[in-house]
Amino acid sequence: MNFSRHLEINEPITSKSFSSESSKNVSVESKKLEDSTKILQNLSNSSSSRVIVVTSGKGGVGKTTATANLGMSIARLGYKVTLIDADIGLRNLDLLLGLENRVLYTAMDVLQGECRLDQALIRDKRHKNLALLSISKNRQKYNVTRKNMENFIESISLLGYHFILIDCPAGIDVGFINAISPAKESLIVTTPEITAIRDADRVAGLLEANGIYNVKLLVNRVRPDMIQKNDMMSVRDVQEMLGIPLLGAIPEDQHVIISTNKGEPLVLKKKLTLSGIAFENAARRLIGKQDYFIDLQTPYTNPISQGIKKVQKFFLGN
Ligand code: ADP
Ligand code: MG
Repeated sequence: MNFSRHLEINEPITSKSFSSESSKNVSVESKKLEDSTKILQNLSNSSSSRVIVVTSGKGGVGKTTATANLGMSIARLGYKVTLIDADIGLRNLDLLLGLENRVLYTAMDVLQGECRLDQALIRDKRHKNLALLSISKNRQKYNVTRKNMENFIESISLLGYHFILIDCPAGIDVGFINAISPAKESLIVTTPEITAIRDADRVAGLLEANGIYNVKLLVNRVRPDMIQKNDMMSVRDVQEMLGIPLLGAIPEDQHVIISTNKGEPLVLKKKLTLSGIAFENAARRLIGKQDYFIDLQTPYTNPISQGIKKVQKFFLGN
């Protein structure tokens, strides 16, 4: 990988830069210094990507679905987003995005010198703001160290990406620590089942032990009908059990499966389904926009005019 830009910025800031005698030299040197300051400023601007790892304790709870839909939503909101498929064992982010035929190179190929990073960064055909980097095509070929991951993130940041979402293996899988190490933020995905919640709690502990304190929660596959009958925990119950701030709640929705099969994230649908709206709202909150929490029980009426009461009722359970 080429990190020569790092070397360039170091070069002008030497004692030589400050020791010129003639005024001509002074102006040349101060111009150099000005240039290097500009480079440094650009560098710090361009390398300020938000790096968010999407993880869970239990497998199959919706990490990849969440990464694809949140990533696409954020890209549609005008930000440059890279999605990294770091779940080597269950690599399928490319399928969900419909990009499987375009993944010719992976991060492993970059490390082995077989291609450049930009060749492994697959641009989405619908939204140029969105790119995908797969770490490896198969588990046998996986040999990406923590340092490698950090270098990839740094290089992608330098390309001006605002968000980097890492679709991570479940908490106990190989590669978890390597995948989370470059992240400053995390999104824990869970379903409202006791086993998934307990595993999510363990992962929250692992994240904290690895210095990731900015953690948010996404509760997926919520069934309001079951909550009403007391057969499922409410989103509020899940959130209180884990004690992690809530980013969003996504309902169980058969369109998720249809969209997976089509390789078209839900949030791209012209008429958004409830889960599509819920993902869009979560994406807005992720970029810092205040948004209402969707009322999954009466979704198609305006939650603001319905009053906050109903929304609260949903999160409180019954
Ligand atoms: P993970 O990445 O955590 O293993 P996936 O995102 O691959 O989980 O989802 C696992 C399965 O659950 C997939 O078949 C997916 O279509 C399905 N699924 C995920 N979220 C929902 C949802 N909200 N409603 C219905 N099915 C879902
Ligand atoms: Mg997955």
